[in-house]
Amino acid sequence: MTERVRCCVPFCRRTIAAEKLKPWNEWICGKHWSAVPKIERREYSWTKRRIPNSDATSVQWERLKAVAIEAAAGI
Ligand SMILES: [Zn+2]
Repeated sequence: MTERVRCCVPFCRRTIAAEKLKPWNEWICGKHWSAVPKIERREYSWTKRRIPNSDATSVQWERLKAVAIEAAAGI
């Protein structure tokens, strides 16, 4: 059976094949991703492209996760 990774947002039931996600092990589904402001998404993809696997990338990822979770909770 293929391993699935769940969306980072609590109670979100969406999953993605772990294979597709490599080398990452966390994921935000399309629906919750679109709740993250464009500027944040752009900054993250920029950092990921220029300096992959850096601390800056993981810091930004944690931030995006928090934003997506807050947006989902309607805060
Ligand atoms: Zn989700």
